[in-house]
Amino acid sequence: MVDFQAIRDQFPILNQQIHGHPLVYLDSAATSQKPQTVIDAESEFYRTINAGVHRGAHELAALSTEAFEQARAKVAALVGANAAEGEEEIVVTAGATAGLNLLATAIGNASLGRGGDAAKRFALKPGDEIVVSKAEHHSVLLPFQELAARTGATFKWFDLDDEGRVRSDTADEVITERTKVVAITHVGNTTGAITDIAPIIRRAHEVGAIFILDACQSVPHLAVNFHALDVDFAAWSAHKMYGPTGVGFLYGKRELLEALPPANFGGSMVELAWMDQPAQYMAPPARFEAGTQPVAQVVAAGVAADWMRSVGMENIEAHEKTIAAELLKLGDIDGVRILGPRENVNRIGTVAFDVQGVHPHDVGQFIDAQGIAIRVGHHCAQPVHRHFGLFASNRASSGVYNSVQDAQVLVEAVGKVRAFFRV
Ligand code: PMP
Repeated sequence: MVDFQAIRDQFPILNQQIHGHPLVYLDSAATSQKPQTVIDAESEFYRTINAGVHRGAHELAALSTEAFEQARAKVAALVGANAAEGEEEIVVTAGATAGLNLLATAIGNASLGRGGDAAKRFALKPGDEIVVSKAEHHSVLLPFQELAARTGATFKWFDLDDEGRVRSDTADEVITERTKVVAITHVGNTTGAITDIAPIIRRAHEVGAIFILDACQSVPHLAVNFHALDVDFAAWSAHKMYGPTGVGFLYGKRELLEALPPANFGGSMVELAWMDQPAQYMAPPARFEAGTQPVAQVVAAGVAADWMRSVGMENIEAHEKTIAAELLKLGDIDGVRILGPRENVNRIGTVAFDVQGVHPHDVGQFIDAQGIAIRVGHHCAQPVHRHFGLFASNRASSGVYNSVQDAQVLVEAVGKVRAFFRV
């Protein structure tokens, strides 16, 4: 039995009053709070072993390199990826957005003929198809829309059902023999819906397309194993999984990372550089990690990954399900509509809602005055809002530190919104 009160106590930020009320933090889909052990890991790194990694012969450089690579292995262990030297499948990025842009740029480079024969499998030309879904965060939508514009590929998407779930049942029609890239969210950042990705991945592979998973909203909440899922690439951010801002990770099957040309160029990614000859790039993951890395943040992200595993992803998943059940009671309030699945099945504790007649910013302010933090706006997912006939919404989202009482406090506050605004 996990003591979730003891877990909550590990998050110092939660122990404060906001506008005279105890803070109720229900905005973990935007960013999660950090346990003390993660906060300590970053400062401990700076106090003891700070140095540039993979360069320099001195002791601190060796220790920081070791810590950096160990962190990569810890993150790999969280998502079922390889980390042995020469088989690494985790690339350090500046976040999910950076990882998705890295992929789109690298595929664009392959389409220009870069990367030799090995990279041809990624090359796009007019008539080829890139497929996303209407549920995507702009960080998936825009890089791949741009990639389509640059290569002349056709941009297509999965539609959503009434509850905002990706219509996986249409995979055979949406994905065709001309589809080369499929990029889909694992969990909708607005709807909280877990996408039924298996039929989409099966179909993508049947036609020889690569499948890219946006794992931003799954890795923090669900037990995820990229090998078992058979995804080709996956991107997510450390700051939503109890780790620091400024870093994220890109998973890639080893043979695909080896075939993919680089996207960013500079120091620490090249074996040989000449004035008059093409450079020879390093093997992955270094090939994709140009420039000085955010070492302290990566080390702390490794601590976050270990911390999550020590709590147990199944325990986190089960605990947040109880929060989701409570948050879904928002749908019982008169004039409140949930944008996403109403049943507590195949969804996480991210619940977006509309309060009829009250603008989300007014809702947010009313809620904030009671010390409750939720997100209002379009959550960087405008197409999904349009799907629901809205431009913006309110979103409550859980983390491991939330209690059922947090959700109850929110539901009670939302219950008073319409009367307050006299609608
Ligand atoms: N995809 C999803 C589903 C997200 O929720 C987010 C973060 N809001 C992103 C991508 C982008 O992540 P980041 O801003 O950390 O790069």
